[in-house]
Amino acid sequence: MTINSPEGNQALQAILADPGLPCSSPTKAFWQEPPFPFPEPNESTQLPQQCDVVIIGSGIAGASVAYHLLQLNPGLSITILEARTATSGATGRNGGHIKDVPWNDYDEFVEAYGREAAKRFVRFKLAHLDAVTEAAKSMGIAEQCLVRRVDSATVNFSAERWPKVKEARERWLADFPELRSTWTMYEGEEEILRRFGIRGAVGCSIVPAGAIWPYRFVTGTMNVLSKKHPDFKLFTLTPVTSIASSGNSEQPYIVKTARGSISASHVVHCTNGHAAHLLPILRGKLFPFRGQMTAQAPPPTFPRVGHERSWSLRDKKRFDYMTQSPLSSGEIFIGGAEDGRLKEFGCTRDDELNPIALDHLSKVIAKDFEGGEGTRVVEKWTGIMGMSLDDLPWVGRIPEEVSGRRREGEASEWIAAGFCGNGMVSAWLSGKAIAEMIVGGEDAVGEWFPKQMLACTMERLNKMDPEAYTKARLM
Ligand SMILES: Cc1cc2nc3c(=O)[nH]c(=O)nc-3n(C[C@H](O)[C@H](O)[C@H](O)COP(=O)(O)OP(=O)(O)OC[C@H]3O[C@@H](n4cnc5c(N)ncnc54)[C@H](O)[C@@H]3O)c2cc1C
Repeated sequence: MTINSPEGNQALQAILADPGLPCSSPTKAFWQEPPFPFPEPNESTQLPQQCDVVIIGSGIAGASVAYHLLQLNPGLSITILEARTATSGATGRNGGHIKDVPWNDYDEFVEAYGREAAKRFVRFKLAHLDAVTEAAKSMGIAEQCLVRRVDSATVNFSAERWPKVKEARERWLADFPELRSTWTMYEGEEEILRRFGIRGAVGCSIVPAGAIWPYRFVTGTMNVLSKKHPDFKLFTLTPVTSIASSGNSEQPYIVKTARGSISASHVVHCTNGHAAHLLPILRGKLFPFRGQMTAQAPPPTFPRVGHERSWSLRDKKRFDYMTQSPLSSGEIFIGGAEDGRLKEFGCTRDDELNPIALDHLSKVIAKDFEGGEGTRVVEKWTGIMGMSLDDLPWVGRIPEEVSGRRREGEASEWIAAGFCGNGMVSAWLSGKAIAEMIVGGEDAVGEWFPKQMLACTMERLNKMDPEAYTKARLM
């Protein structure tokens, strides 16, 4: 397939397109039932005329910005504007896996940004499990969102791929020798069948990871904030349609929505795959990508190990990720795909299912797991990720040449978006970094944050070539 083939050209045009607003009637995700009953202004409530910070998007990134801002300065007035119901984007529709497999892209990051920057990025991602767990505990919502530590089996079925994975893992461990004893590895079909009940695998790395009910974590966070801070507000069913300059140096931004406008000193774009709708210069650089998820009921004899185990399943073409409820019901949450990914480039239709991926996911457990026969899909839904051409999120101040709007003093637009399908290990602390920068200025953010790698700059944008990116994925 080439870039000039109908499929290649279609994929390229799709990533260059305006992602628009999220669709209004998304598929029903298991996680969002029952909807969280927190107090929110109803549809007829007027938007405030002004506030200190407007956050666009009520996913994990938006909630984290609000949470950390209010920790730093409890007096701030903050309004989250959400196009649909609360946390109805990727965060309310994902796999619930807090897992990073750092060697997958470590070599590329070392080459592009240097060893120290790449190491800092790894530490940043790995810090998420503790940060999310601590935040959930401190708000008293750890039990409701079922946050837990797991040993995640990262299973490889490709004899051709496995030696390369092992080499990349070794190079990564050479830079993180202190992790060698806990990041273990097993090889051989029999050994993996015996230990993990998985058939036909070549190798398996154990990755210390976590699992969570993300919708409950994020809606729980916003509930706690709204009870504690009268000037924290969430407006759902309020799509932001544009942003204009006000000419007023105190509140230089007017955020326009379908139900009125609001002036603000700071605007934070937490719109993930839809970011390029309000920031057109990002089109073709940060684009939506649709993923398919299922919740499946295992037969009574299938092991209930969700309190301590999760899985990723890979071969040359497929990438599936799987967690299990720690409750006795033992539902399995599995997402991923084998083929047909190109069609999902640029796709924002989370109101439709992906039949190819769905067919694959409905067969995986019976095929790969001992005792998996009889597992049945009980819920199926899609969700929209935000992909970035350099596989890194965008986190920082938005320069004037990117927004097309003038800045006034420290008042700014900011972005935390494009989490490339890994938001559970990158969005929460990105929100913390944005909060530190809004309150203390760009230099105030701690050394822990990989600021240079994730910054929103024209230099980074100009390096990105959507055609080359698409071509590489057609091979
Ligand atoms: C199927 C699937 C499975 C995944 N599995 C995992 C996983 O297991 N582990 C992991 O780490 N990551 C996973 N991810 C990725 C992860 O869910 C995301 O990276 C993360 O949730 C992004 O959070 P966010 O707050 O940036 O975006 P979102 O949760 O998408 O929130 C953005 C919000 O902005 C709103 N919005 C957009 N435009 C506007 C507008 N103009 N006005 C108002 N509101 C607007 C949207 O409605 C949405 O609610 C998965 C994603 C999907 C789709």
